[in-house]
Formats: sequence, C-alpha cells, structure tokens
Amino acid sequence: MASSSSRTTGPCVYVLHHSSRPRTKLSQPAGPGKGSRLGPPPARAPRRPRRECQGPPPTAAETQAGAAHVVGYPLPSVTSRTSTAAAAMAAAAFLCARAAAAALRPPSRGLPRRLLASRVAAASASGEGGGGVEFQGTVGFLGLGIMGAPMASNLIKAGCDVTVWNRTKSKCDPLLSLGAKYEPSPAQVALSCDVTFAMLADPESAAEVACGAGGAAEGLAPGKGYVDVSTVDGATSKLIAEHITSTGASFLEAPVSGSKKPAEDGLLIFLTAGDESLYKRVAPLLDVMGKSRFYLGDVGNGAAMKLVVNMVMGSMMVSFSEGLLLSEKVGLDPNTLVEVISQGAISAPMFSLKGPSMVKAAYPTAFPLQHQQKDLRLALALAESVSQSIPTVAAANELYKTAKSLGLADHDFSAVIEALKAKVQSSQQQ
Ligand code: NAP
Repeated sequence: MASSSSRTTGPCVYVLHHSSRPRTKLSQPAGPGKGSRLGPPPARAPRRPRRECQGPPPTAAETQAGAAHVVGYPLPSVTSRTSTAAAAMAAAAFLCARAAAAALRPPSRGLPRRLLASRVAAASASGEGGGGVEFQGTVGFLGLGIMGAPMASNLIKAGCDVTVWNRTKSKCDPLLSLGAKYEPSPAQVALSCDVTFAMLADPESAAEVACGAGGAAEGLAPGKGYVDVSTVDGATSKLIAEHITSTGASFLEAPVSGSKKPAEDGLLIFLTAGDESLYKRVAPLLDVMGKSRFYLGDVGNGAAMKLVVNMVMGSMMVSFSEGLLLSEKVGLDPNTLVEVISQGAISAPMFSLKGPSMVKAAYPTAFPLQHQQKDLRLALALAESVSQSIPTVAAANELYKTAKSLGLADHDFSAVIEALKAKVQSSQQQ
C-alpha cells in the first residue's frame, strides 16, 4: 500500500493520505418508496429514550457548564491501578497483525482480509505507526452502533486482538462470531486492553462511558491509551481528556468524517488531536479503519474540525431538500435535478447517494438524523463561543428539530426533507 504524508497548515498539523487506495463506490440505497416522486412521509419509527438535548442551542458558557456537569465524576486516583495494569500490559503485549490468527477468521465483507492486514504492517513500516514496528498490544472497542460495529469488525479482520463492549449486549454478537472477546463493562475492557477506542452517540454517552461508574477510566493506567472517536464538543472532549490522563493513560480525540459505507470499507477520515505519541502508536489501527488521518494539535481541535464539517453537511442537505421540493413543485422531475447536480461543479457524493432515495421518501439510516441535529447544536455553541454568526446553520437546525418532533430521529438525516414537506403543507392550509 503506497502512502504519502505531507504537512499542511501549521507545525502541529499533518495529514497522511492513502493516495493509491480505491475511493468509495457510491451505492444507491434501497428503499421501499412508492407513489409520487417525492413520495409519502415514512411511518414513524419507534423511539428509544435517549439523552438527546432538545430546545434552543445553548450558549458557550452553558455548553461548558453542561459538559462539566456531564463529566462531573470524581477524578480517579493515578496510583490505585498502576501495578495491576502494568502486569496486564506485560501479559497482553503481542503483535496485533498476526497473519496466522487472521487466516483462521472468515473473510471480510468489506476489504479483503489480506489488504486489511497489510495495512497494519505497511502503515507501521512507514514509520508513522509506533516507530516502525507493527502495532503491539490488544485493542478495546466500546460502542457498536452504525459506525462502531464496522470499525471494530475491520480491526478484527486485520488480525487485531479486539475486546468489545456495548450497552445493548446483543450488538456484540456479530463481532464475537468474528473472533472478538467480550468484557462486561468499559472499565474491564480498558483494564484488559492496551488501547481502547470509543464510538458513542453524543457528549453525554461519551462522558458516561469514559468517566462514569464502571467507565473506561477505572481500568486505565500509565502505558495505556484511550481514543475517543465519537463526535462531541471540545469542552466535553477536554473534560474526558482530563479524566483519562489523571489515571496516567494517554488520550487522543479522533472523530471521523465518513458514514456507514466508508466505515465498512475502511475509508474513514480521522480528525485527531491530543497525545501525539498515542497518535503515532495507533496510526496502524487508524489506517485499517480509514483512508486518511489528520493530527490537529491540542484536544478540542479535532472536535471543532468535525463540527465545522458536519455543520456544512447539515446545511447542504437542507438546501438540497429545498431544491428537490421546488423542482417538483414547478413541474420538473427531481430525479433529473439529482442527475444535473451530479454533473456540475456542486456535485457531491452525498447528493448522488441520498438523492434517489429521498425522491422516493425512503431514508435508510446511515447517519441518524438526531446525530446530525446534535452536531448542529454543538456547532452553534462553537460559533457562539467566538461570537460568529452562522444564520444558515441556525435555520437548518430548526428544521432538524422539527424532523425529530415528527418522529424521524432514528431515520437517516436526509429525512429532514419531511420537515420541509410539513412546512409547505401547513403554509398551504393557512
Ligand atoms: P448509533 O448507531 O446511534 O450508535 C450509538 C452508540 O452509542 C451505540 O453503541 C449505543 O449503544 C451507544 N450509546 C448511546 N447512549 C449510550 C449511553 N448512555 N451509554 C452507553 N452507550 C450509549 O450512532 P453512530 O451512527 O454509530 O454514531 C456514533 C457517533 O459517531 C456519533 O457521535 C455520531 O455523531 C458519529 N458519526 C456518525 C456517522 C454516521 O454516518 N453514522 C458518521 C460520522 C460520525 P446501544 O447500542 O446500546 O444503543
């Protein structure tokens, strides 16, 4: 695997691309949509109670205070677990990319197992990962939702020794059948692994799993690493970092750009910040799960970058939805609009991927709408912290909130078009 690395904007910012790797193929989502071109609204999905914040976006001060409240757990003692963890580290240390173990496992649904395994070795050989040696040690993975499950799966298929945990235990089963081990709490995963990844829904769950009772921090100690790949705000990330590093362990934030399919294909983009030596140590693992990685310096920068990217995406989706509805209203075929956009300067994989199913009012979930609204809420707070006005994002956020109130929280975020349809309908009735 050829890879190249180059510095970008500053002394602590660099990026590695896998230039020769195939790009994600866009597949058209299947959907049962029928009827009019911009078909009928979907059936309401059953909603699971979640700790998703609602209402108007908080101020920067509220966000900071909220994060402090969320992570209001006592900082654990550094000394209490050091010797246990050192012993566990010594016992657990072995090569991650074990070709023999990989050969025993069933073939990957995404990338071929051979290619995944070679990524661990090649990235390490480039000197980016762990000083020119393969990643050594065991890997924990907390949170096996839409993103976490395929990411952990790719690590297993690459030959890594992976231990998993998920709040809903049944979601661990497919990973266990691929060869993963299971531990019954985040603390026990962190205790039994050298490096632990976490992919949780939102700031509240990321903080709970890292710092709550039975949380990862209880199993961490010097020499271990914690990599949070969830999308959270910078304040939450800093508070988690403080908690983790108080145990003597290292912390890296590494939110990802890319959705379900890139996660399955190992083509995510990592936006990392925090402990640089941990970044280098886990680089071979990031290269299994992703196509490129950015190191952005201090904790909070990765979170901020991710929120800026997702606020652009959320607004783009609203604008696209407005275009689809307007095209139909004036007698055009919205499918043709999708095709026209795909051939011009504003083409984006997202429009080509989601457009055809949106026309059929089908929203198979790749990125849950409630997560998109969470990211807009956090982006608004980020903008407020520097007194920047982002009116387009504020307007888009209102639509996502409306879509949530219509029961679409667990649908794909492209279902925001339903909020627009509802708006159009109610204005016609007045
Ligand atoms: P998801 O399918 O909703 O999974 C969320 C995960 O968080 C599940 O494992 C869930 O456990 C767990 N969780 C939620 N609340 C919890 C709590 N209180 N305690 C413990 N665990 C809890 O979400 P996803 O799409 O994988 O997204 C995960 C993160 O990645 C989010 O921050 C999202 O913004 C970000 N992201 C998503 C995408 C995407 O396209 N989907 C792309 C980039 C980034 P259960 O299984 O028990 O519910």
